[in-house]
Amino acid sequence: MGQVYLNGEFMPLEQACVPVMDRGFLFGDGVYEVIPAYGGRLFRLPHHLHRLHNSLTAVRIPNPLTETEWREVLTQLVRWNKSEDQSVYLQVTRGVQQKRDHAFSGQPLKPTVFAMSNPLQAPATVPLTTGIKAVSLDDVRWQHCNIKAITLLPNVLSRQEAIDKGAAEAILIRNGYAIEGAASNLFIVRQGMIITPPNSHLLLPGITRDLLVELAATHARPYRTADITLEELRQADEIWLTSSTRELLPVVELDGKPVGNGQPGPIYRDMHRLYRDYKDRVRAGEAD
Ligand code: PMP
Repeated sequence: MGQVYLNGEFMPLEQACVPVMDRGFLFGDGVYEVIPAYGGRLFRLPHHLHRLHNSLTAVRIPNPLTETEWREVLTQLVRWNKSEDQSVYLQVTRGVQQKRDHAFSGQPLKPTVFAMSNPLQAPATVPLTTGIKAVSLDDVRWQHCNIKAITLLPNVLSRQEAIDKGAAEAILIRNGYAIEGAASNLFIVRQGMIITPPNSHLLLPGITRDLLVELAATHARPYRTADITLEELRQADEIWLTSSTRELLPVVELDGKPVGNGQPGPIYRDMHRLYRDYKDRVRAGEAD
């Protein structure tokens, strides 16, 4: 890894230290973003910065940088880290407080800002062509899942439980509805129709999800946003999961039973091609 960014300075990772009184460390009091960069170009940066701004506003942390400043910092990180494809991680916490106190209204705190970039491996062709296994688990998270909070313990435990059960991802179920993955958004296909749950406080407005909805609209593929019951999930012809780093993954087995015919479906392959084409346009500087 080259340089990382911490509170206004670029430095080697080993030198980047945060005081233990940081509220990110003590309370998980902060938000984050993960932004891919292809061929040195940040993928959908305005969308990520918009979501970051929404997360910060929701948790009452002032945005420490302007959009231009964010762009400069992240572009600089990507330049230093040379790999063709990268994954930029940024985190803003409420900052360091003298005394541990749940309330944060005492004196204004200076947010801690950290960002780093790591090489990004394109998802291996194997899961893309053969698909992954998923399990359904109770969604035990809070009521503000639209905030990209660093407090990820329920997601961490759900992902680990999925892995312990021999699957790659957990699909979270709340009140009988399939919401999203532990770190991914959910799509199903039913009788040719692409369906994804509408954005709400129950799920993260995924940048990949939103792009797929946009691609379906521009390319006139039948889609709608609608709630998905667990029953509909179980009967789906296709299930896919999306995220910035894993792109679009087909789920071929749910809770030990095949999805559709147990192979990645034709609509998955079509949408994945549209996604890859878009990514290539970003790489060539023709889209962002
Ligand atoms: N939902 C959750 C809970 C996530 O953690 C993620 C990825 N961090 C996503 C959805 C996918 O979002 P994106 O496409 O922006 O990576």
